Amino acid sequence: MTITAQHEAELLAKVPTGLLINGEWRDASDGGTFDVMDPATGEKLTTLASATSEDAMAALDAADAVQADWARTAPRERAEILRRAFDLVTERADDFALLMSLEMGKPLAEARGEVTYGAEFLRWFSEETVRHYGRYVTTPEGKNKVLVQHKPVGPCLLITPWNFPLAMATRKVAPAIAAGCTMVLKPAKLTPLTSQLFAATMIEAGLPAGVLNVVSGASASKISAPLMSDDRLRKVSFTGSTAVGKQLMKDAADKVLRTSMELGGNAPFIVFEDADLDAAVEGAMAAKMRNMGEACTAANRFLVHQDVAEEFTAKFAAAMGALKPGRGTDANSNVGPLIEEKARTEIDGLVQAAVANGATAVTGGAPVEGPGYFYQPTVLANVANDAEILSQEIFGPVAPVTTFADEAQAIALANSTEYGLASYIYTKDYNRMFRVSEQIEFGLVGFNAGVISNAAAPFGGVKQSGLGREGGAEGLAEYTTVQYIGIADPYAAK
Ligand code: NAP
Repeated sequence: MTITAQHEAELLAKVPTGLLINGEWRDASDGGTFDVMDPATGEKLTTLASATSEDAMAALDAADAVQADWARTAPRERAEILRRAFDLVTERADDFALLMSLEMGKPLAEARGEVTYGAEFLRWFSEETVRHYGRYVTTPEGKNKVLVQHKPVGPCLLITPWNFPLAMATRKVAPAIAAGCTMVLKPAKLTPLTSQLFAATMIEAGLPAGVLNVVSGASASKISAPLMSDDRLRKVSFTGSTAVGKQLMKDAADKVLRTSMELGGNAPFIVFEDADLDAAVEGAMAAKMRNMGEACTAANRFLVHQDVAEEFTAKFAAAMGALKPGRGTDANSNVGPLIEEKARTEIDGLVQAAVANGATAVTGGAPVEGPGYFYQPTVLANVANDAEILSQEIFGPVAPVTTFADEAQAIALANSTEYGLASYIYTKDYNRMFRVSEQIEFGLVGFNAGVISNAAAPFGGVKQSGLGREGGAEGLAEYTTVQYIGIADPYAAK
């Protein structure tokens, strides 16, 4: 389908522009607004209300006021709301995909993929809501019973990044609803529109007023700081950069808040000498180029056995060089722009430093001229193992390739980072897969697979990539607190 300007305008007109507080869309208390831009053109898409600290507190007031009643709703009722939300988001997949493409820049086909992935958290957690088991056992000496129940942790602050505007929201909102928590959602200011439309959809799905409040705004800390110093807030779930995550953990310490931290990554993509190289290139394209490389799971360091490095690099560069940058709505393009000029400048700086240090740009290596923040899909060969580009999250369409001589060196190189989110291993040897998985320090391992995120699987990192998991049964546990009731057993043997 060809997307016209009229089509875009009609969609933007459906997006609520206010703050969602206690079930109502309101203006900011000081009347403030901020603009949301199209990264493919640098032009304004629309203007939203910009939350003040007072608005943030009003959102917490609303969440706190309904927390006790919401926690008591029947699990089936919460499950049905989530299921209806899944159906509605799926029915409106075209709207959500286009909106994400407009505000974030990703190609429409990829945005549709995110709708499927993001909606799946609603369905998965609707199913988990009614199967949230506790336990009841006899104590070892036989005198008492142990009753363990899971209760909602309480009002949560959910802070999401700009790179997956729908999925990062559903990955937090769905388990919070399943657990019986109320929420204040603060989307990234660069891509808040999807959350606005998603929140409107949740209300349509039957979510009671006050359970989900959305406070978009130009200043993140004006929103988060007062909430995190209020005793009524019980948890902060954050997805974003490690630097901001660390600051929020410090802030959370004052009130001993529960925290879930999904932070940055520096994923190694290890290609062993016995790998199916065509499959490895296909996996590399997915692991590197999903979201133009703007993903925490993005392969950041290609560690390739020295015997196959030349062949792998040539095939990989050919595939990268064939990609066509363009606006997400352009059916002929398959790589969108970077989110902003600052990101493009930083990425180019890393590339130029690597090249000055002896690396070769086999394909790409420069910004794309013209409007928007496009960067050429780039493969760098002969990158020195101590190059700066290997120690930082690149967050763009740039793939540095370096080599290793044996398995032990591959593992040492993979682990030589303070991050520990995603990793990828390509080999035909299952024994090696287990051996390497045991030794690498990453929360996620893709074995002959370039994309492994799934609503049913626990997603999260170790080391400075974060704490906690999203998705799977583990994702629900993040929103509950455990209560143990010790019961004297009148029938116990004396
Ligand atoms: P970011 O700058 O850390 O921002 C993330 C969120 O935090 C945004 O909503 C942002 O609001 C907010 N924020 C920024 N400063 C804040 C402060 N002082 N107090 C409270 N909130 C604050 O990260 P980003 O650039 O949006 O996202 C990219 C990063 O996210 C990458 O490092 C990526 O690896 C990571 N990420 C991790 C995962 C994961 O699951 N591990 C998934 C996706 C992304 P504003 O945008 O409004 O300033």
